[in-house]
Amino acid sequence: MNAEIIMIGSELLLGQIIDTNSAYLAQELARIGINLFYKTTVGDNRQRMAEAVRVALGRADIVITSGGLGPTEDDLTREVVADVFGAPLEFHQGLYDQIEELFKRHGFTMSPNNRKQAFIPRGATPIENPVGTAPGFVACKDDKRVIVLPGVPRELKYLMQTFVTPYLRDTFSLGEMTICSRVLKICGMGESRVDARVGDLLRDSGNPTLGILAEPAQILLRITAKADNPSEAQAKIAEMEQEIRSRFGQLIFGVDEETLEGNVNALLLRDGKSLSLLETHTGGAIAQRFVSIGSAALREALVANSDAALSRIMGREKSLWNAQKRNHEAISVALGRALREQTGSDIGLAVVGIAPNSEVLSPEEMATGKTCIVIDSTGGQAYWEIRFSGTDPMNQTRATALAIEMLRRYLAGFVDPELPTRAPRA
Ligand code: ATP
Repeated sequence: MNAEIIMIGSELLLGQIIDTNSAYLAQELARIGINLFYKTTVGDNRQRMAEAVRVALGRADIVITSGGLGPTEDDLTREVVADVFGAPLEFHQGLYDQIEELFKRHGFTMSPNNRKQAFIPRGATPIENPVGTAPGFVACKDDKRVIVLPGVPRELKYLMQTFVTPYLRDTFSLGEMTICSRVLKICGMGESRVDARVGDLLRDSGNPTLGILAEPAQILLRITAKADNPSEAQAKIAEMEQEIRSRFGQLIFGVDEETLEGNVNALLLRDGKSLSLLETHTGGAIAQRFVSIGSAALREALVANSDAALSRIMGREKSLWNAQKRNHEAISVALGRALREQTGSDIGLAVVGIAPNSEVLSPEEMATGKTCIVIDSTGGQAYWEIRFSGTDPMNQTRATALAIEMLRRYLAGFVDPELPTRAPRA
């Protein structure tokens, strides 16, 4: 059973409103096990709308449209579907009464052009809309059907839940059929390295399928299974998840809604450890991520935005500052140690950015800068260097995530052989 969705509205094409309806419809169709292979967005143009509906009907059993059901001249969905099905629009007294009743309930007078909303193509099944003035309808021909819904998200959701989903389950005897997904999350590994390990699964998987999505600072591996019921789908997902975990091990930091900071916070609490942070170019973004989850482990966070501040934090090791200006590792390690000692936390995480084009960088590092990450604890120190820095937002996001990921690896006792954390040389 295949569906397509068509989002109608010139504002969508102009980028003036964000299309949230298609994401909702896609999730809802997946939940009941209906495949969705295409979605189209089309402006309020009669000819192009008709073409979009015809093309979709040529490929899918079910077409769901959103929008264009209002009372104004540019609301054309009713007319277009009537044209495509070759069925004239007919007045429905029941729909008219319901629209009138809604106006009365809200203390408004119904204007004459709202009468237009009570017309649907001959033979179509009306979908009453008690939460808005735009009723929907289902028009069928042979085995194909178009389900027409209003664009207002609240109304569209209401009609999906109360009418469309039960209607589709009944009409196509879907029973408990479902499509379920599980997302495995990886940080600190580029898309190509991830692809090298699961390329075969990405190419060859059928049911479940595997998809890869590169986000700033993390890679998502999405396993999607279709089955007659949720437990069968979960079993298929579990099998592939096991295979993927055997290839990545502890590189997978979380699943589904889990976050890096949430899982690091849990590790800190498990070990009874408190955390302090020192940030430069990330400007408190690491602290923000811990504070936003209400982390009880984070004790204190400092943001240093000048050499003077950094040299002051170094305290008794201040002399290093001038003596070792080119030795970023020695300076960062001293900062990590000073941070932990001064704050009295169990663990200090220092993230020190060396700006691009800084005179203290090697020629290869000049273009992107460098970020030094240090973890200092009573149990030892760890050091990681990454080849970018500066105030570019993407670099800040990556440095923030990688610093938290490094702390996760440290707490989990995990070393990635391809990107090892090293004991500092200082
Ligand atoms: P109404 O009769 O209430 O105007 P309608 O079916 O004519 O409903 P539209 O006029 O196309 O719907 O859209 C109404 C409003 O719904 C838009 O101004 C927009 O705010 C919102 N909307 C429309 N389509 C979408 C969409 N795909 N995603 C999110 N919001 C949308």
